[in-house]
Amino acid sequence: MTIVKRACVIGWPIKHSRSPLIHGYWLKRYRLEGQYDRIAVHPDDLASFINGMRENGILGCNVTIPHKEAVARMVAISDPLQRRIGSINTVYFGEGGRLEGESTDGIGFWRALEINTRVRVDELRTAIVLGAGGASKSVVAALVEQTNAAITVVGRDAEKVTHLCSLFDTARVSGLTWSHVETQLSSCDLLINTTPLGMKGYAELEIDLRPLGGHAVVYDLVYVPLETAFLRQARERGLKTVGGLDMLLYQAAPGFERWFGVRPEVTDELRDILVRDIESGA
Ligand code: NAP
Repeated sequence: MTIVKRACVIGWPIKHSRSPLIHGYWLKRYRLEGQYDRIAVHPDDLASFINGMRENGILGCNVTIPHKEAVARMVAISDPLQRRIGSINTVYFGEGGRLEGESTDGIGFWRALEINTRVRVDELRTAIVLGAGGASKSVVAALVEQTNAAITVVGRDAEKVTHLCSLFDTARVSGLTWSHVETQLSSCDLLINTTPLGMKGYAELEIDLRPLGGHAVVYDLVYVPLETAFLRQARERGLKTVGGLDMLLYQAAPGFERWFGVRPEVTDELRDILVRDIESGA
C-alpha cells in the first residue's frame, strides 16, 4: 500500500491562499504520491491542530494570517534571529520527530530580488522598508544577513518600529516616520513596500517616487494585483521593479522540499499558472 504524504496550509480564513496551486503543481510535476490541502483552522482550534498533526498523518504545513506568531510559540525554531522575531510560515517534523518551524519569507524575498534585478550586494548601501509587520521583519532580516546596507524601517506606530529595530541588535537598522520618507528617497538604493497598501481591496500607497535616483530598485510584496500603482509609477520612471509574485513562489520551495524530499523548481509554467489565476480575479 502506498502511503500518501500529506501537507497543507492553515489560516483563518484560508480560501484565498494560492499555496495549493503551487504545491499541487510540484506534486504533479515530480509525480509524487502526495497531497496538499487548504485547511481553515479557527484560532481556538490552533493548538489542537498543531498537536494532532502527527496523529492525523500530516507531515507539515504552511501557516498564514493570523496564525504565524501563535504557531511560532508552539514549535522549536533553530535559527536564533527567527526565534527572536517569533513569526513562522512553515512547520515540519525535524530530527527525532521534533516539531519545528521556520520563516521562508526572507529566502523568497532575496531570491526574487536576485533573479529580477541582478543587483550587486555592494551596490545596496541604503534600503527603506515601508511597514513594520511580520513581512517587514523577514525582509529586514534578509537584508541584514545578505547586505551591508543601512536599513530604514518606516511605520505608523513608533513603538512597533522601535521594537522591530531592537530585534536586530545592529545600528544598521533604524526607524523613521511616514512624514519623512520622501526626504530620504534621493539616497535610497532599494525601496520596499511591505504594507498591504496597493493590494486589491486596500487604498493605494501614495508616495511621490520622483526623488529616487535612476539606479534605485522598487520592490512591492503585494502580488494582487501583479503590478500595483506604486510599482507602475516606478516602472514608468524607468526604474527596476520587483512585484510580490516571485517571492510567493520562492518562499514555497523550502517547505515542499522538507515534506516531499524534492527540491522543486520555480518554472515559467508555474509562474504562468499563478499569473492567470491572479488575473482571473479568483
Ligand atoms: P502585517 O503583519 O499585518 O503588517 C502590515 C504592516 O503594514 C504593519 O506594519 C501595518 O502597520 C502596516 N500598514 C497596514 N495598513 C497601513 C496603512 N494604511 N498605512 C500605513 N501602514 C499600514 O502583514 P504582513 O504579514 O507583514 O503582510 C503585509 C503585506 O505583505 C501583505 O500585503 C501580504 O500579502 C504581503 N506579503 C507578501 C508575501 C509574498 O510572498 N509576496 C509574503 C508575506 C507578505 P501597523 O503596524 O501600524 O498596523
